[in-house]
Amino acid sequence: MNKQVFRNLSYGVYVISTLDGDRHTGCTANSAMQITSSPASIAVSINHDNYTNSCIKKTGKFAVSILSESSDPGIIGTFGFQSGRDTDKFSDVKYQVREGIAVLDDACGYIVCKVTGTLETSTHTIFLGEALDGEAAGSSAPMTYAYYHNVIKGKSPKNAPTYIPDEDTAPSQDSTKEKWVCSICRYEYDGTVPFEELPDSYTCPVCKQPKEKFMRQ
Ligand code: FE
Repeated sequence: MNKQVFRNLSYGVYVISTLDGDRHTGCTANSAMQITSSPASIAVSINHDNYTNSCIKKTGKFAVSILSESSDPGIIGTFGFQSGRDTDKFSDVKYQVREGIAVLDDACGYIVCKVTGTLETSTHTIFLGEALDGEAAGSSAPMTYAYYHNVIKGKSPKNAPTYIPDEDTAPSQDSTKEKWVCSICRYEYDGTVPFEELPDSYTCPVCKQPKEKFMRQ
């Protein structure tokens, strides 16, 4: 089957946060949807390998911060391309605590939920959550997954439910053009300045890793 068809499903880009004991942690996710309106409930899908998964199970609560088109793409890298096991992902972002859970300032809204049910699949847990609190913020449009792929040029991390294994091998629009790809998040540089001529201070716009993390392909 053609897995690219799944790109035609609409998604947003979110940071799912919870607690690891007293410490805030979380991960980037694209699979979140409202399930019921009264009481308001949503579902999110989190890979078993994501540290956030086990933390939500212990805490019984999670929050969804809804990223907007004006959100710093570095948030996606901070929360999506490193593990909360060994990283304090909230150390460099502004956040507030709502119902005990951290929600990001640089977002167009948040929803805090208590877990009311789970469904296990072979790779992911679907958490069903009843909303305890929520607020919309800012005037920027919510970031869609299509925007992340087409405008920010981001890729899906391996743990995403929407990961397509052969995404990297899709033919480039210009196969003769040299490609420089971030080895951490797979962002493909497409600026007009040749990659080698970028200053040493250049960092990946998605995951903020330095220029030396890029590889020629
Ligand atoms: Fe990167």
